Amino acid sequence: LEAKEEFSHKTLAMDVMRPRRNDPPLTVITQDSMTVEDIETIINETTYSGYPVVVSRESQRLVGFVLRRDLIISIENARKKQDGIVSTSIIYFTDHSPPLPPSSPSMLKLRSILDLSPFTVTDQTPMEIVVDIFRKLGLRQCLVTHNGKLLGIITKKDVLKHIAQLANQDPDSILFN
Ligand code: ADP
Repeated sequence: LEAKEEFSHKTLAMDVMRPRRNDPPLTVITQDSMTVEDIETIINETTYSGYPVVVSRESQRLVGFVLRRDLIISIENARKKQDGIVSTSIIYFTDHSPPLPPSSPSMLKLRSILDLSPFTVTDQTPMEIVVDIFRKLGLRQCLVTHNGKLLGIITKKDVLKHIAQLANQDPDSILFN
């Protein structure tokens, strides 16, 4: 009985992940349909350390995770050194380039900077377990899914803030930190 009571108070991954209710949606990159310009806009308008890559906006199926700094370096390099890369060039993270009309500009393959197995937990995972995973695996971020669809992200800083909040709520726990 006690254990059950305790469980009902537990914070879950979905309570800590971003976006929060009423926040704008997660900033994601699609695997083979965004242009150089689309992705440069994301880089310029957000400051996140990384972006989940999904099959498509409709599916929200997770493909991997790409770091902001790797995107910036790769696009800068390609614009300077790779023939035919322009603002309207499609960037793809898949094995093969998407089928496009022959008249389309050269495409830019960025599969090599994609982390194909980013750590994920489901939205119902207790935060206690998430904190443990962050500690033991030294994670920087973790993605949150529901029924195989991408829902959100938890960064190391999000976890640290969550721990600090718990410490404020529960004076006893400060003694152990
Ligand atoms: P940090 O948490 O270290 O500041 P970020 O700058 O990557 O790292 O993230 C800032 C906040 O935005 C965090 O609360 C995180 O959960 C959230 N966040 C991170 N990446 C994204 C993203 N691609 N789309 C929306 N929110 C994100």
